[in-house]
Parts: sequence; structure tokens; C-alpha cells
Amino acid sequence: MTWHTGRAMALSSSAAPSVPARPLPLVAAPRPRPPRHLADLTTAQRRELAVSLGEPAFRADQVARHYFARYLRAGDAEAMTDLPAASRPVLLDALLPALLTPAKVMTCDAGATHKTLWRAFDGVLIESVLMRYPDRATVCVSSQAGCGMGCPFCATGQGGLTRNLSAAEIVEQVVAAAGAAARGELAGGPARLSNVVFMGMGEPLANYATVVAALRALTAPQPEGLGLSARSVTVSTVGLVPAIRRLTGAGLPVTLAVSLHAPDDELRDSLVPVNRRWPVAEVLAAAWEYAETTGRRVSVEYALIDDVNDQPERADALAGLLAGRLVHVNLIPLNPTRGVSWQASERRREREFVRRLRLRGIATTVRDTRGRDIAAACGQLAADAPTGPDTDRPDRSARADR
Ligand code: SAH
Ligand code: SF4
Repeated sequence: MTWHTGRAMALSSSAAPSVPARPLPLVAAPRPRPPRHLADLTTAQRRELAVSLGEPAFRADQVARHYFARYLRAGDAEAMTDLPAASRPVLLDALLPALLTPAKVMTCDAGATHKTLWRAFDGVLIESVLMRYPDRATVCVSSQAGCGMGCPFCATGQGGLTRNLSAAEIVEQVVAAAGAAARGELAGGPARLSNVVFMGMGEPLANYATVVAALRALTAPQPEGLGLSARSVTVSTVGLVPAIRRLTGAGLPVTLAVSLHAPDDELRDSLVPVNRRWPVAEVLAAAWEYAETTGRRVSVEYALIDDVNDQPERADALAGLLAGRLVHVNLIPLNPTRGVSWQASERRREREFVRRLRLRGIATTVRDTRGRDIAAACGQLAADAPTGPDTDRPDRSARADR
């Protein structure tokens, strides 16, 4: 993306947190590209590559099956017994290079939540979070290392953008999670990974073409891809309108989540700086087009911040914008992040906010705070920032989720 917000982030008076208002890098500096991997390629390209290596085309399909159906990755070569020993190194070098190495795994919620810190080929650190629920297992993935959007309440945004991830680096987080779930590494025994949410580090639609390539690999039937249903994949965006429109036409009926956080431009300008480029009305117009074209209910994300955006008038204003639409509101109690003094809304105010939305017939849930005590919850992923419970507030009971 090459757009600019035009001016450095200027936060409005009482809502201003103690985050330095410095310009953040919006465009990644040129860097060496991650190694090419089969998840970056179409089936035809994988086969061509195998042939160019002097192998039969079907060898590419065999490697894809190991990856997408057995969740085998670089380092699991011995398990791929159907590949002739002599061809294995050359095929795996070309199609299955090591992309992400776990640097640290943290668990919480009695073993039902795992956060993995990954080191990429160039030393860049990113995070993904695997969460088990009674009825499903969800992985929250990163689409960029860091983020250039500068939302002041988000730990990822505070560090700026390091670089875009490749399609395979995104898919690899999902395949690793599917493997961990299948091997029973989460509490409760083996599970099938059912859902993917692009709610980790980064703004997925600022890495549009790559994210779409990753979505295709995630939703293509096994063994060409991971075989997930598009509706169980959620792409969350800060509201990059032209990219929402492109996604509308992409023929991938994934669930779209729009991070609104305020019904009025005045407040949203400070909470979501990109609002100065694409204000609330434009973002919602694009969201409704998405809902009409795909038939998919759009999710509106709203982080409830005490005394900042949780007033009854704002609940009513939000209800006015959403009433009668194909929409679901996901309220996220603000998760604590370093350097920001804002707090989650008091329970009483949160309940009133929910009540006012529901009164207007708007489906509304409050997301749980999964992973909060290992800084794995929404907006807490910062990879190399110190983490810990020191800024935490008393926990809440589990509720709706991602
Ligand atoms: N960049 C995308 C997706 C990643 S963030 C986006 O902004 O939508 C995923 C969700 O977490 C977004 O709704 C984001 O606004 C929210 N979020 C960020 N920081 C948060 C925090 N500290 N507490 C609660 N939610 C937060
Ligand atoms: Fe980026 Fe999303 Fe965080 Fe905003 S909330 S800084 S868009 S990751």
C-alpha cells in the first residue's frame, strides 16, 4: 500500500493515551523475500517446478498432500516415505523450505490456548494463537510483522510495520496449528482445526494480494489446499475501503470483520487514524456491499474502552448505523497493552451498551478475553515487546469468542 494518512497521528484531548505521537512507517522497507514455498504457488506452478527439477509432476502433489493433509513441514522429511530418498532433498528444498521456527510457546486457559512466537527466515518475529473451544479450534494468525496503521490502543500498532508476510508464511501458521491440534497438543485431546481468524499482527488488507493467495490455499480442497470452509475464515480489517471492494469481487466468501470502534468520525479519527482517509460512512457502505454480494453477515468489531467510546449515546448512534443490516456486533473488552492507560469498560457500562444494541434487534456478543494473561488476546501481539500480567486487570468470565 502506498497511501499516507497525510499527517502524523494527532490524538484528541481527553481520549489521548500516553503513546508517542510519532509518524510510523506505513510502507515496509525493501527486504530479502521469504523463500518460495508450495503454499505460494498454484497446483500448476508446483507441478511445473517439480518437472523443472527433473521430477515427475505428481511428486509436487505428493508433497502438497504431506503438507496440507498430514501437516508435515520442513524437518519432517523422514515421514514422507513415498518420496524416493534421492529426490526428497531436492523436492523439499524447492517446495517445502523452512519458513517459521518456533522461538517460544506459551500456554494458558488450562492448556486450551497456545501462543507461539515464530522466527522467520530473516529473524523477524511474529505470533499466532491457537484456541480450543467446546465446539471448535480456532487459530488467530498474523498477516504482517507489525502494522503500519497506528491504532493507539493496539500493541502491534505501536511498533509500526516491519514487513509483509508471504502467503506461505501465513499458511504455515495455520498448518502448524492444524498439526498441533491434530496431535492433541491442546488440552482435551486431538481436535480438528476448524476456524482461522486474521486478527493477529498486521492489517490483512494492506497485504491484499498475498492474503488472497493465502485464503485460496486455506480454502482449496485437500490436498491442493487445507480444505477449510471459507465461511469459517474471518478477515478482520481496519477499513481499507478499496481493498474491501476488491475482496467483494474476489469470489471468496470469507467472513469480513470491520474494526469500527466508534460510530462517529470525530472519535474514530483518533482511535483508528486511517479513518481520516476512509471515514465511517464509506467503510460501512463497503461492508454492506460485501454482505449483499456474498450473502455473508459482516462482523463489526468494537473494542469497549472505558469512558472513551462506551457511552449510551454512542451505543445508540452505532445501533442507528447498523439496524436492519446483515451484521453481527462483536464487542471486545479492551485488552491491556503497555504504555496505554485506557481500561476496558466497567461491566455495568458494557451491559448497557449491549442492551441498547439488542434493543434495536442487532445481534451482539462480547468476546472472551482468551489468552490475556500471556498477552495473546486481541491487540496484545507485539512479538518482541516485553509481556506479562503486570498491566492486567481482574479477569472476566468466558463469553462469546473469536
Ligand atoms: N488489523 C486488523 C486485524 C488485527 S487486530 C484490524 O484492526 O481489524 C484484531 C482486532 O483486535 C481488531 O478488531 C482490533 O481493533 C482489535 N484490537 C486491537 N487492539 C486491541 C486491544 N488492546 N484490546 C481489544 N481489541 C483490540
Ligand atoms: Fe494494525 Fe489492527 Fe492493531 Fe490497528 S488494530 S494497529 S490495524 S493490527
